[in-house]
Amino acid sequence: MMSQGLVTMSYVAASILFILSLSGLSHQDTARRGNYYGMAGMAMAIIATLLSDSVNAYIILIMALAIGGFIGTKAALKVEMTQMPELVALMHSLVGMAAVLVGYANFLDDTSVLQGVEKTIHEVEIYIGIFIGAITFSGSVIAFGKLCGRIDGKPLLLPARHWLNLGLLIATIWLGSIFLSGAAEGGGTFALIIMTLIAFAFGVHMVMAIGGADMPVVVSMLNSYSGWAAAATGFMLSNDLLIVTGALVGSSGAILSYIMCKAMNRHFLSVIAGGFGSAGGEAATVEGDVSPIDIEETTQLLIDAKDIMIIPGYGMAVAQAQHTVNEITKLLHAQGKTVRFGIHPVAGRMPGHMNVLLAEAKVPYDIVFEMDEINEDFPKVDVSIVIGANDIVNPSALDDPNSPIAGMPVLECWKSAATIVLKRSMATGYAGVGNPLFVHENTRMLFGDANDSMQAVLKALNK
Ligand code: NDP
Repeated sequence: MMSQGLVTMSYVAASILFILSLSGLSHQDTARRGNYYGMAGMAMAIIATLLSDSVNAYIILIMALAIGGFIGTKAALKVEMTQMPELVALMHSLVGMAAVLVGYANFLDDTSVLQGVEKTIHEVEIYIGIFIGAITFSGSVIAFGKLCGRIDGKPLLLPARHWLNLGLLIATIWLGSIFLSGAAEGGGTFALIIMTLIAFAFGVHMVMAIGGADMPVVVSMLNSYSGWAAAATGFMLSNDLLIVTGALVGSSGAILSYIMCKAMNRHFLSVIAGGFGSAGGEAATVEGDVSPIDIEETTQLLIDAKDIMIIPGYGMAVAQAQHTVNEITKLLHAQGKTVRFGIHPVAGRMPGHMNVLLAEAKVPYDIVFEMDEINEDFPKVDVSIVIGANDIVNPSALDDPNSPIAGMPVLECWKSAATIVLKRSMATGYAGVGNPLFVHENTRMLFGDANDSMQAVLKALNK
């Protein structure tokens, strides 16, 4: 058994490790170290909690740890890189559900000795904790469905949806006052249950109303909510480490949401209110002739080019083409060409998705650029290669006010002398919008799986 002083010291050390972890994760070359800090912090937190005075049901705890550890390990080993965003959404939902369950357990716990103001504060914590947890849970389950394509990405726009949201919020506050006065006399269960159901409905409605293109903000927002849900759990359990960790996750998620909104030129409130950009008329349809290209011509264009820009998107993750792309990059580099990568902040299906893939393939960081750093360079680029990207290179975001992605900055590759787009068909991307880039006069389409095409190009370049 650890003394309370030692437990507190371990919690402080774990908090410091979590902060170091977050700062490590902010850059690719320190990300691995950041992960190690996080793992060490979590191990320390679990051990200190297990050895603290407040734990005595060891059998149940060990069983829970074994079952949770087994499922987690199995899921992590099995999950494909492309399924990561769904897994993350599912994890957020578990944090939300944990907050709801801890809230109810706290409420039903009749061994509590709190009295007067302390009791009221504890009940407010329970009420808010369950509210945030329930929204996080149901919102994350819908986000999971949308990310894995089981739920349609189109926003569900109920008539008077803003009034509905406002009504639900007012009902929650009203039920809160009923709960508090009821709880003071040993009741309040009914109000708590109704509020939980409202919060579940609120989470579902909130995420259903958000269109595909705005999903990155939802993912980071739910990340933030899961942090606040954990912090609320920390308050309910009087666990300082959980409060600190929850606040770290909550605030870093909020900062990420802000960055995502800025990158997409969205206002946070209009995104969470739902249906941003979809209130206007019909988006323009794409008309024009597609100009396909074969491997031989693609290779020749690359041989003739001096300045090449590679734009990876979700399709590169699906095709797992990053290793072949890296081989091609090394080859072209050795021939004295400038090869750079342009990364859009919402490329792929989770923040930093492309950076992770490129780091995995060991692409040097100094040739990987953020959109803002290289967008002005496109007129000087000889060939842009778009690998499985669609929405992030869609010019209609800039010139069609009715487009669901209107206003979002995109990589302006059509300004380069030639653009080659690698994809399997003329299908739309995640936002479901037609892309005029594919019929642009400078664009050639290389149809097929991105990895197969890249391997064929690599073979031809090596000849
Ligand atoms: P998109 O989803 O717009 O387009 C991906 C393209 O890849 C598809 O058009 C598809 O075309 C192609 N593709 C799929 N598989 C392959 C393959 N094996 N080989 C070649 N091509 C393939 O991806 P982007 O990265 O351009 O944009 C990201 C989108 O996802 C944005 O709308 C963003 O808002 C959204 N989003 C982003 C999140 C984030 O945090 N980054 C989170 C949630 C959503 P085809 O089927 O014809 O091959």
